[in-house]
Amino acid sequence: MRVFFKEIVFSTSSRFEIVDLTSQVERVVRESGVRNGVCVVHAPHATAAIVLNEHETGLLHDIIRFIKELFRPGGDWRHNIIDDNAHAHLASAVIGSTRIIPVRDGELVRGTWQNVLFIEMDGPRSYRRVVVEVMGE
Ligand code: ZN
Repeated sequence: MRVFFKEIVFSTSSRFEIVDLTSQVERVVRESGVRNGVCVVHAPHATAAIVLNEHETGLLHDIIRFIKELFRPGGDWRHNIIDDNAHAHLASAVIGSTRIIPVRDGELVRGTWQNVLFIEMDGPRSYRRVVVEVMGE
């Protein structure tokens, strides 16, 4: 079995932001040479999340609005006493920071409206990274 590993490094420019990583993840899959297996996309951060969904401007705004409504930035969370980002930790914990996508015939198996989206919830950050690990043969 082949295991191929790569990091995508980037920065974010506002507190909430969605970064589309689809083409970069697909590039890693191609580079890996893996034809059939799985691709793990993992954000090693406690205040960000990874989702698979449509890159449509209105929907990207809706996702951020929904996260704000659900996790209430500035709410009376205990973690806000020491670090004003409890909403981002809660959203990351609930949404998840890892996704697994099948790889078949050298391509990610994803729906037309499933892009790989990184959700920044405690930006801006000069250093964010996403680990892409492709395993298979
Ligand atoms: Zn914190």
